[in-house]
Amino acid sequence: MATAVDLMEYQAKELFAKHDVPVTLGVVATTPQEARAGAEELGGRVVVKAQVKAGGRGKAGGVKLAQNPDEAYAHAQDILGMTIKGLTVHRVLVAPTADIAAEYYFSFVVDRSNRSYLCIASVEGGVEIEEVAHTNPDAVAKVSIDAGTGVDGAKAREIVTTAKFPAEVAEQAVEMVQALWKVFIEEDASLVEVNPLVRLGDGTLEALDGKVTLDENADFRHTDHAELEDKEAADPLEAKAKAKDLNYVKLDGSVGIIGNGAGLVMSTLDVVAYAGEEFGGQKPANFLDIGGGASAEVMAAGLDIVLGDDQVKSVFVNVFGGITACDAVADGIVHALEMLGDTATKPLVVRLDGNNVEQGRAILAEADHPLVTLVDTMDGAARRAAELAAP
Ligand code: GDP
Ligand code: MN
Repeated sequence: MATAVDLMEYQAKELFAKHDVPVTLGVVATTPQEARAGAEELGGRVVVKAQVKAGGRGKAGGVKLAQNPDEAYAHAQDILGMTIKGLTVHRVLVAPTADIAAEYYFSFVVDRSNRSYLCIASVEGGVEIEEVAHTNPDAVAKVSIDAGTGVDGAKAREIVTTAKFPAEVAEQAVEMVQALWKVFIEEDASLVEVNPLVRLGDGTLEALDGKVTLDENADFRHTDHAELEDKEAADPLEAKAKAKDLNYVKLDGSVGIIGNGAGLVMSTLDVVAYAGEEFGGQKPANFLDIGGGASAEVMAAGLDIVLGDDQVKSVFVNVFGGITACDAVADGIVHALEMLGDTATKPLVVRLDGNNVEQGRAILAEADHPLVTLVDTMDGAARRAAELAAP
């Protein structure tokens, strides 16, 4: 199974620059003092941006404009140490402020179900693309890309036209689409996303944010990628979990465990070990706490790791809806399974309780995913998961 490494914005932008995608790099800072020095170097007016492997930083207060170096210091002080979607901010990017005239959305993704690639683009950028797809589906262009021919000038032009980029930026956009395609192909990425891709006051285009997921299997071709990864943990699954800031410990059993809250996960391990005795001694395969803010992304990352363990035969997802209610978690599970596509092959037993539990169960019942079994009680779910793991 392909393992993936998500890059932070500043790392994504370094790859963009390497392939001539217009971008402003700025300075990475780990202390308020460094942020102030960075702002001085950049002329005073800067944006201070949290560097975590999660979107929605702006909404979470992780992107702030500063008028001068002292304000940059103050913003960095606020943002460093902040938690965004369960991830602690250890670095900020300090970059010259952009004079934004328009925000667009652009991405290339691997289209697993069609064994090809997909470009998604919209002139309604800045906000999350799922939101645009929901409120204004006509504004989201999806252009499929043949794996053999890729994106040449003509294909880039088709993308720009289909997405309805304004005529005055069309030529630049065609260039940029081709440069982004080079990032995608030459770096062996499975995702390249720019949101927002902005038109500046002077009419030029620039990638103001960047998200890149690299395919680790292609690492041998990219010695420079190794530097982008966390190398501290010995077990590859633990290393991967660490890169996603997930609290994961590999154990020796066959029942994958995903829960939110360390206490809940601990008791889940006990309940599964107990239930497993009846089925030839099935045991938990891991400890994985996806934390209080169990978003779809975090759920997908967690499932990806647990399903990547060859010893895992079934997965028990045990969630108590709190800060993130059960319906959001259920959406996360459904979305995660969509994202994983046919790489998800093991049965999941899901137990939901807590806030909005009825809505959560309804979402899973409605999705009716063939791999998912919903069980109401923790004991019942543990028993079912152990049974499914037995040979
Ligand atoms: P995200 O929220 O994690 O996706 O972070 P982004 O890098 O996309 O920033 C969020 C939003 O902040 C963008 O959509 C912009 O509207 C705004 N923003 C980011 N950088 C600048 C900047 O340099 N100038 C201005 N005016 N706005 C910015
Ligand atoms: Mn963004």
